[in-house]
Amino acid sequence: LVVPDFASFCTEIDQLYAELLTDTRGAVADYIPQLARVDPDQFAIAVCTVDGQRHVVGDASSKFCVQSVSKAVSYCLALEEHGPDVVHQHIGREPSGVSFNSLTLNKSGRPHNPMINAGAIMSCSLIKPKDNLADRFDHVSDTWKRLAGGRPVGFHNSVYLSERDTADRNFALGYSMREQHAFPAGTDLVQTLEFYFQSCSVELDAEMMAIAAATFADGGICPLTGDKVFNTQTVQHCLSLMSSCGMYDFSGEFAFTIGLPAKSGVSGALMVVVPGLMGICVWSPRLGNTVRGIEFCRKLVERYNVHPHDAA
Ligand code: GLN
Repeated sequence: LVVPDFASFCTEIDQLYAELLTDTRGAVADYIPQLARVDPDQFAIAVCTVDGQRHVVGDASSKFCVQSVSKAVSYCLALEEHGPDVVHQHIGREPSGVSFNSLTLNKSGRPHNPMINAGAIMSCSLIKPKDNLADRFDHVSDTWKRLAGGRPVGFHNSVYLSERDTADRNFALGYSMREQHAFPAGTDLVQTLEFYFQSCSVELDAEMMAIAAATFADGGICPLTGDKVFNTQTVQHCLSLMSSCGMYDFSGEFAFTIGLPAKSGVSGALMVVVPGLMGICVWSPRLGNTVRGIEFCRKLVERYNVHPHDAA
């Protein structure tokens, strides 16, 4: 067994959950009206090991939008289709040091990395660009389904519509990249942005996201189905950039204190990968990055030697 005493690990997770439940710091994202209306008290933690053992505590069956956690999957899909050389002609791979939607590009007029909005919009432009939008969306939602052990994923239409209606910043990023000729030839900008908003509005629950994280932990193979969703190389590249860039302008601090590859989203979702061992999802809508999610990670590395540079 990968986690030898899974039962006592689960007890520990439940204890952490109880400790964190009283932490009500932070506030829900309010820049998209539909996100501002979610119940801020919701909280779930789910784990899935690479041999498929699972545990969930809290609001386990509530669904939430993946939001920026989609950026990891979109990057992987772009890599699978084009390989890293082509993808990184369009997207950098350095941390930006600024917030997720900052109006900034790197010195070559490219997005700093795939884990912030500009980079994720660019990844979307690289996913099946010749297909129609319906097929492209099916490709993304099928991929999430496979990552999550074959369970059907949802789509939050009102979040999508609300996001599209309040998207000036993302349009601004799109136009400034187009001005720099950053997109592949033939890119339809408006379609690309819509595809990006749709990818953010895919819905799953905490257990499904933990299974997806475990698929990343196992080099792209879903521990529940044995389905090889991504190539090992793709996963390696994605985890590297999640480690350096997955938490926006908190990425350096997170790498220092936690060290694990992770990706956060404004819905309060946090996907954490312990390579070779397990996937974790913490969902709690009150932000900085999800406050309880970060605290959970801090407590986890205090109790277990999962920090990658822990020599113990
Ligand atoms: N859909 C959000 C946006 O583009 C995603 C941002 C996020 O989760 N940080 O603004």
